Amino acid sequence: MDMLIGGKHISSEDLEEVINPYNGEVIDTIPIAHRQIADMAIEAANDAKSALTEMSAFKISNKLFNVVDKLREKRQEFAELLTLEVGKPINESLVEVDRSIETLKLAAEEAKRIYGESVPLDAGLNGKGFFAFTQRMPLGVVVAIAPFNYPLNLTIHKIAPAIACKNTVIVKPPSEAPLTVMKFCELLNEEFPDGVVNVVTGYGSEVGDYLVNSADVDKVSFTGSVPTGLMISQKAGMKKVTLELGGNDPMIVLKDADIDKAIKGVINGAFLNAGQVCMGVKRIIIDESIADEFVQKLVVATEKLVMGNPQDSKTTLGTLISKKAAIQVEQAVNDAVEKGAKILTGGNREDAFYEATVIDNVSPDMDLVQNETFGPIAPIIRVKNLDEAIEIANDTEYGLQAGVFTNDYYAAMRCANEIEAGTVFVNKQSTFRTDNMPFGGFKNSGIGKEGVKYAFDEMTKTKLIGLNLR
Ligand code: NAP
Repeated sequence: MDMLIGGKHISSEDLEEVINPYNGEVIDTIPIAHRQIADMAIEAANDAKSALTEMSAFKISNKLFNVVDKLREKRQEFAELLTLEVGKPINESLVEVDRSIETLKLAAEEAKRIYGESVPLDAGLNGKGFFAFTQRMPLGVVVAIAPFNYPLNLTIHKIAPAIACKNTVIVKPPSEAPLTVMKFCELLNEEFPDGVVNVVTGYGSEVGDYLVNSADVDKVSFTGSVPTGLMISQKAGMKKVTLELGGNDPMIVLKDADIDKAIKGVINGAFLNAGQVCMGVKRIIIDESIADEFVQKLVVATEKLVMGNPQDSKTTLGTLISKKAAIQVEQAVNDAVEKGAKILTGGNREDAFYEATVIDNVSPDMDLVQNETFGPIAPIIRVKNLDEAIEIANDTEYGLQAGVFTNDYYAAMRCANEIEAGTVFVNKQSTFRTDNMPFGGFKNSGIGKEGVKYAFDEMTKTKLIGLNLR
């Protein structure tokens, strides 16, 4: 598939293969862009700015709704392509496409609600006699970079609010799973003037880095790992940056919890998308008095998952993004076992598949739970009481989301107040998001919020206009 720059399809002499992680077959190739091509995209996006700013919010909203209809018509096609390139079960891909439609719809609605406010300058010294108001202005050119695990919806969380706020965009899709994003940008390009949406493929470390550095880009909206996010924050200079980074989300299960509900939370939270979810349940911190019963039931539920061809609707556990990624998970689990952890079920790898794994006797200082392990792992950490649970939950550089299972409102409120995370759910696992909620972590999990309406704040700048009427 070709890149899209200024409305034209552009290729390159260097191509990269996109591999289906399920069978190792080549799905397609994408161009490897170098700096000159990135410069072409920057120029095209800057040239298209006036075409977009001259459009009314009414027209932009309608055009985004047209794209909603087009994506809805191609729901199945997009989901199958997503499964081909990511390896996630088809039912999960359908959910991602449905959420993408929802995200786009929210942006189309919100495009009509970009308000300023009147500001009483006469409340300040010497401000008498002014009439002043603010306007929210587009930033200019937004670079959007998303990871492989939810490439479509996470990219739409950036580019739909960006365009709704009258910014032009340059998308750098993830190299391992670029195709659904590229196909979606074609739909946008059918509706908007040439250059409003541009796609540049290639290595993040080269072309992504170049785009982030460019003085002719006004904003970087990035979702990905902490190391890449830190690099971007250092290189972006004075431009606005949103960083949605990794997570190491805790799930606290207290002694009065509804165990069956909590088990469901682990199955949906630790094994979704083969555990490759930023807000996945990555540490299960459980009161020792109920831990034996909990792990027994968890093993039974885990063994019901069906690992297999992700295009088969009965499959509930697909592959990881690559064999390399599965080997990394295998190494992290083996390291924990060498240090005293015990596998209760799972623990085996075959090519890019890694079994859903429940691992007990995990201590909070093991690398498996200190780092973000991106695989289908449910590590059990047993604790004596609520104080210890909260202390361990916070013992991480991350702070994306958290879940606590309890019916004790005092304990629930202590967790809500004391856990350092962007979201704390009670009686729900961290692996839950609606596309209109403010989403974004504390600590090294990022800067800024997404969630359409909240992304609008990040995609605009405020100008004050003051009329001296005296
Ligand atoms: P990654 O290695 O950081 O890559 C993410 C994206 O950044 C890719 O498109 C990559 O391009 C690009 N990139 C790499 N180096 C770059 C550079 N120097 N400058 C600019 N762009 C660069 O992350 P990943 O392994 O794909 O994704 C998994 C991570 O994303 C996990 O940590 C996960 O928790 C996090 N994540 C966070 C959220 C959230 O909303 N908080 C959501 C999903 C995932 P290439 O593919 O070409 O290298």
